Amino acid sequence: MQHTNSERLHEEALKVIVGGVNSPSRSYKAVGGGSPVVMERGQGAYFFDVDGNQYIDYLAAYGPIITGHAHPHITKAITRAAETGVLYGTPTPHEITFAKMLQEAIPSLEKVRFMNSGTEAVMTTIRVARAYTGRNKLIKFAGCYHGHSDPVLVAAGSGPSTLGTPDSAGVPKAIASDVITVPFNDIKSFKAAMDKWGQEIAAVLVEPIVGNFGIVEPLEGFLQSINDITHQAGALVIYDEVITAFRFTYGGAQDLLGVKPDLTALGKVIGGGLPIGAYGGKKDIMDKVAPIGPAYQAGTHAGNPASILSGIACLEVLKQDGVYEHLDRLGALLEKGILEAAENNNISITINRLKGALTVYFTEEKIFNYEQAENTDGETFGKFFKLMVEQGVMLAPSKYEAWFITIAHTEEDIDATIHAVNNAFESLQE
Ligand code: PLP
Repeated sequence: MQHTNSERLHEEALKVIVGGVNSPSRSYKAVGGGSPVVMERGQGAYFFDVDGNQYIDYLAAYGPIITGHAHPHITKAITRAAETGVLYGTPTPHEITFAKMLQEAIPSLEKVRFMNSGTEAVMTTIRVARAYTGRNKLIKFAGCYHGHSDPVLVAAGSGPSTLGTPDSAGVPKAIASDVITVPFNDIKSFKAAMDKWGQEIAAVLVEPIVGNFGIVEPLEGFLQSINDITHQAGALVIYDEVITAFRFTYGGAQDLLGVKPDLTALGKVIGGGLPIGAYGGKKDIMDKVAPIGPAYQAGTHAGNPASILSGIACLEVLKQDGVYEHLDRLGALLEKGILEAAENNNISITINRLKGALTVYFTEEKIFNYEQAENTDGETFGKFFKLMVEQGVMLAPSKYEAWFITIAHTEEDIDATIHAVNNAFESLQE
């Protein structure tokens, strides 16, 4: 496969865009380096790059593209928005329709607010929780990613119940010292942190089903225990459902798992591919937000008609019969095919899958926390990633990311992917 144009464009990009990419995860740093493939067009389950190569897309733009690229219903909605003005700076009827759709699907969203990204959504839930409780400290879980605002770019301290340290240059130590990071699926460590800091904790922030060190489900009772312990301490539970909402079911992970948070952050899928974020939760907590309450949050582009109409159209597609069954069925076929290919080629892998999302880890161990995901074989993943790209299958360039199946994928795409995996595993043996 030729990548001459991609390579040339990456060289050019390096001169004007920092690192040549607009989000660090798009670089190939985590897979041994190289020029990222530069895409020209997406259609359905496929990508077409600037060298004319075609790929089956499992990146799905890191989650949002659940309908496949350029879905006609969403395209029509975006076109309508373009024709009627993409930004008014006033209320519109569409945002009310969309808020009601979200609330119907995720009943814990008694009130919502729209904004432009998952980062903003999470950042604001933290602010609102602090405003509501009058406390500052936050507990989060190792390996969960919550966007790039200061309070969530914090690494764990030297033990599970120690205060955090900045995980990025530019994050003040004072901010990091208000954040405690504990291992996911480890209720003992969480309890220890709450025993020590409980009365100072404003909120506990968690991806209810993790999407950021692969797809990792909570162990039985983990989320309920978090709820119970957090509420006993007078703190709030925030679910970051930026990846999970509408990914596994027409609703949130909270609806799938039957555990309700106080506040929820949303993004990705709900924009149908256009930039969006939203947050919501209990009415008395949301009433802390301006203009009713003292917690400030605003946005020039917040609730813009283009993103909202695109989001409405996306949910209309997802609400149709059989959507999630299709994702689950193809996911199961893909999982089975990859496992068989691994067995045939003596490659040790573990697959975590939920419906149409899965992660292939190069390890024999089960993965239910970040430390285990960290210990998987990244070098082999890097080689595997490149072998797949060369055969026209696009994955995210990181061992920690999920493969996302869209409703545009077909059984033939899955078969072709399994064939490519077989070839890749065969090459890894050599
Ligand atoms: N929360 C989670 C769980 C995410 O996976 C992400 C992005 O990957 C974010 C928040 C941040 O969203 P955005 O990239 O839209 O700012």
